This record gives sequence, C-alpha cells and structure tokens, in this order.
Amino acid sequence: MVKKKQKALKKKAFQKKALKITGMVLFVLFITAALVVNAFLLKKVSGLKQELEQAREAQAVLQSQISELSETSAEPDRKPETEGNGETTGKEPAGEETTGEETTGETESKASWKIDTAKAGSLVSKTQLANVKTADCFKSYAIKGEVLKRINGKSYVENPDISLSQLRYLKVLHYNFSHKVQVGELIVNAELAKDYLEIFEELYENQYEIQSMYLIDDFWTGEGQSSDHDSMQANNTSAFCYRTITGGGALSNHALGRAIDINPQQNPYVTYANGTPTWYNDNADDYIDRNKKQDHMISHEDICYQIFTAHGFTWGGDWDDPKDYQHFEK
Ligand SMILES: [Zn+2]
Repeated sequence: MVKKKQKALKKKAFQKKALKITGMVLFVLFITAALVVNAFLLKKVSGLKQELEQAREAQAVLQSQISELSETSAEPDRKPETEGNGETTGKEPAGEETTGEETTGETESKASWKIDTAKAGSLVSKTQLANVKTADCFKSYAIKGEVLKRINGKSYVENPDISLSQLRYLKVLHYNFSHKVQVGELIVNAELAKDYLEIFEELYENQYEIQSMYLIDDFWTGEGQSSDHDSMQANNTSAFCYRTITGGGALSNHALGRAIDINPQQNPYVTYANGTPTWYNDNADDYIDRNKKQDHMISHEDICYQIFTAHGFTWGGDWDDPKDYQHFEK
C-alpha cells in the first residue's frame, strides 16, 4: 500500500515536472516565434522605408522637372485661343503633348517653348528662343477662359463703352531691368492690337527695358484708382482698366484700351496745380526732376517715345498740366 502510494506520489511529481518543462518549452517556442515574426516585420518595415525613400527621391526629381517646366512655360489651362480674324500673328500651338519620358529636358524645352503657354513674368533663355521666330513671340488673343476669369468684375465690368470683343489680350517679350528676357501681358483695344504688337517687337529688338508687364488685376484692391496706384508702386506697365481719369469723372483712355503706362516709377504722373509738383507714388520721388537724366526715364530722346509716336500715339509728357510721363495713347 505504502509503496503504491509512494509510486503514485512519484508519478504525480513527475507529471508536475513534465508540465513545468512543457510550459517552459512552449514559452521558449513562443518567444522564438515572436522574435522571428518581429525580425520579419522589421525587415518588411525597412523594405517599405527604402521604397518610401525611393519614391520620395523620384518625387523630388519630378517636382524639380515640373518647376523647371513651369518657370518657362506650362500653364495648360491658361492657353488663350487665337481668333481667326487676321490680326493674330501666329498659329495655335498644335497639340504639344510630350511623352514625359525625356530625361534631358534641355533640348525638349528648347524645341517646345511657345509664348502661348509661357506664363507672364517668366524668364526666357536664349536657348529656349533659339528655334523660335521673334515675330511668333508677339501675339494677340480674344479674351475668354482664364484671362476673362482674371479680369471679370475687376478691370472689366459690363459697361456701355467697351465690350470684350473690342478688346484683345496680348503676350509679348520684353527685357526687364536685369536685362533678362521676360514674358509680358496686357489688354488693349482690338483696333490698336497690331500697333501694340509692332511697338513691343520694336522695343524688344532695341532691348528696351521694362520692369514688368502684368494685368492690373494682379494688383486689384477692389476698385480701379487704388489698384492703379499699387500697380504703379510695383513699377508695373499696364494698359486696359475700365476706370475714370485720375481726379475726375471722365472715362480714361485706359478704359477703352487706348492708353498704356510704361515704367511708372521712373515716369510719374505729376500735377502742378499750385505751381509746385504733386505726385502720387513715393517710389517716384527721384524722378520728378526731368532734367536729371536717369535710366528708364522717357524723354524725346528715348527710343520708347520715338517708337510710340511713330505709330501715331501721343505722349503724356508733352501735356502742359498734368505731365504724365508714363502715358501713351492713341
Ligand atoms: Zn496712363
């Protein structure tokens, strides 16, 4: 009996031990499995990280290519359409789809640069212009699409004096004050579009410097007068704006697209009501004394004056009072 009992006790102890060992083995197995899974996951994560890194690099490359492109061209949804009315100087850009596979970009952009898709204010390199005819860089477009969206309710409002079909959106090249070639834009009366294109082509050929040419809508404050002030403060050259003349109720020739203001900082609008000059933009302080000849000041000796007047324009600098040195009209 005792022996039997002892045997049973031994058996029980052994079972207990076996259970303990099994538990330990299972625990070790579990830990091992966990470690293996962990290692596997870590490897997978590092793989994903690497892929992410590669994707980021690819994205950076793409982004730099995109910004390179958009610097010189590419504003796809602002591709104004030429109107088939004889005054447009160029053709429509015929489907300039690129495959996107090019790695060099350089030769591609040289071949595909067109004023139609070039953004106003963008710089144009000599390489880009190498295969482009100068005449194709001075173009006139009907006002619609993105351009219309930009001006509607700002420089253009429905009015009894001028309709959209009587206006044209022009894109031209000009030299800026760093003597780099830049894209300019302006809106003018359709009757004068040809004149303006010829004038700006002549100015360009003479490497005449204009600081910038953006639509006045880029400086819009809510109404014409102060927008004009802000555009002048930025020394921006602009033409059309449906507004009344400075200090009066009459319609300005700018409202009809028949007047343009060139480099207003160096060529301010000055009145002499009390014998002393009054002007409106403090950036023009150094340019009130017209005897002090300085760069970009328009005078009778200036090629800008000569080209505009050769096209039948009159110059505000020839008025008695006010003197509007920036202003040409026809
Ligand atoms: Zn003016």
